[in-house]
Amino acid sequence: MLNIYNSLSKNKEKFIPIDESHVRFYSCGPTVYNKIHIGNARAFIAADLLSKVLKGIYPKVTYVSNITDIDDKIIAASKEEGISIDKLSKKYFDVYMQDIGLIGITPPDIQPFATDFIKEMIEYIKKLIGLGKAYETDGNVLFRVSSFANYGCLSGRNLNEQKSGKRVVVESYKENENDFVLWKPSNADEPGWESPWGYGRPGWHLECSVMSEITLDIPFDIHGGGNDLKFPHHDNEIAQTCAFHNSDNAQDFAKYWFHNGFLNLENEKMSKSLGNVVYIKDLLKNYDGNHVRLALLSTHYRQPIPWSKTLLDQAKSISTKITNFIESYSDIKPKFVGSTKIAEALLDDLNTPQAIRIMQELVQKSNFIEDEVATYKYIFQGSTQVTNIDLDQQKDIETLVRQRDEARKNNDFDLADKIRDKLSKMNVTIRDIDGKTEWKI
Ligand SMILES: [Zn+2]
Repeated sequence: MLNIYNSLSKNKEKFIPIDESHVRFYSCGPTVYNKIHIGNARAFIAADLLSKVLKGIYPKVTYVSNITDIDDKIIAASKEEGISIDKLSKKYFDVYMQDIGLIGITPPDIQPFATDFIKEMIEYIKKLIGLGKAYETDGNVLFRVSSFANYGCLSGRNLNEQKSGKRVVVESYKENENDFVLWKPSNADEPGWESPWGYGRPGWHLECSVMSEITLDIPFDIHGGGNDLKFPHHDNEIAQTCAFHNSDNAQDFAKYWFHNGFLNLENEKMSKSLGNVVYIKDLLKNYDGNHVRLALLSTHYRQPIPWSKTLLDQAKSISTKITNFIESYSDIKPKFVGSTKIAEALLDDLNTPQAIRIMQELVQKSNFIEDEVATYKYIFQGSTQVTNIDLDQQKDIETLVRQRDEARKNNDFDLADKIRDKLSKMNVTIRDIDGKTEWKI
């Protein structure tokens, strides 16, 4: 049984799925306009951790994470790089997929792209307008927050408090300062779609309400994201979805709300040498993917991570000791074994620091317990890549690995050996484990 903190109730609760035979989980994904940095990666690794634990205990889990491929930041970046938004978002989607793989994050089961759902978003807005919960003004469509009685129920923000607490200049087209955009006009040189309100594009909050409902149906079990998304993004998602279904209960959208803490760059030296943003590829010049993964998971997901070189070095040392210990025994397949102490820690609100401590104790005592090792590997050792390589090089290697697998399947061992030689000339070593080929440089 999993116990998980629910940001909506602000309590740790027993996780009781809506349907035990199919658990459904949505977490907000990236806006693909740049490389992801380690702060972004924290949210993706927290969602990956939860998805892996759920998949360890339930027969079927669908984990959805969206791709925002239309956004002001994407438009700005496409102008800067001088390429179309389609090309730009495809480029950074590929980079995102590679980066998350490097730190052992398994891709979500479904990755809906916002621009594939424009028609549905337009229909959604039409209905909200029809219900009197949204209004058009100057080519914008805004959500009328006063139409949803529980607005702010997740973050705990209260509309009246907000109004009295500060003086805000309300844009002239808004009825209320908190009303937010569902549809906004695009200039002729900007990407957009024809709609009843003119040429324009959807607002970011709307994308998640529409795509989560289409891919998972509502209510679904868990909605996740970083702490910084609670307000306004998640509160706005709740307002839209509940208003659309004439409900005032956020749990008619998702039962549990899952949020991860921030990542703070504490070590001044590190932020100076790498700028204020640390990219995964830069870290992998000195650390393996699993070191970075362990560093991210060494702090409880709800706590802030004090990110520093010391933390990374510690994670590297712990990870190396554990890996050496594990590898001196035969290959154990990664698997979540619910009866282990490591699983017990993870089932208690994903207590990864405790799980790591348990594994460290086993190493210290040279106590090899197969099920504990299998569970540790399943959560903490997802990365098979140990070096910093570029995307083209990775694609070439993967193509060769696939061709070699094919050749072996067809009993063409001559060809398979030739491909292996070619890979070894590229400094790539391969290992065949349980019918799967792992490679590293
Ligand atoms: Zn979202």
